[in-house]
Amino acid sequence: MEEGAGGGGEEYLFKIVVIGDSAVGKSNLLSRFARDEFDLHSKATIGVEFQTQVMDIDGKEIKAQVWDTAGQERFRAVTSAYYRGAVGALIVYDITRRSTFVSVKRWLDELNIHCDTTTAKMLVGNKSDLENIRDISVDEGKRLAEEEGLFFIETSALDSRNVKEAFQIVVQEVYSNVRRKVL
Ligand code: GDP
Ligand code: MG
Repeated sequence: MEEGAGGGGEEYLFKIVVIGDSAVGKSNLLSRFARDEFDLHSKATIGVEFQTQVMDIDGKEIKAQVWDTAGQERFRAVTSAYYRGAVGALIVYDITRRSTFVSVKRWLDELNIHCDTTTAKMLVGNKSDLENIRDISVDEGKRLAEEEGLFFIETSALDSRNVKEAFQIVVQEVYSNVRRKVL
């Protein structure tokens, strides 16, 4: 997080990381959020990428710099540089693939090694449009989130459901954290 005074208003830049197993829809959540695009045949490209999106939170202009693992996660090789300075995180699983839900704990462990406890964390069950082949119930997702002290939401990058909301809630929480420290 960077905060700079100037011209009477503060500027906020929040680094948000998106993590989770390969093919859960991380890149599509990000492109849906930042450019309102969805790609049926998105390929995992190697290398870290981020997109910056300006958001309005309580009338304040906030820049959310959202990072994408961009394929590193396939080799379980997400670097510490990826996590460095992150004040918010979306931990994503695919509601149709249990293995990706089981992995959430491992992603949380990794996150906790690199980030401090105030990092705002959202558990995201993606692909909610695939209700007919759902493997993880909403209740199960909620329960894990409660146990681990995370926010919880189900999203669909395909039909846009709750995507903006997921990022909005995390950024709002980060902003609240900053305010609490400042005040
Ligand atoms: P990543 O590896 O986590 O970045 O996942 P991608 O964003 O590359 O998505 C992996 C695959 O899942 C792609 O074929 C996407 O089209 C598909 N996908 C991503 N999000 C959704 C979703 O919300 N619903 C459905 N049905 N498919 C999705
Ligand atoms: Mg990706």
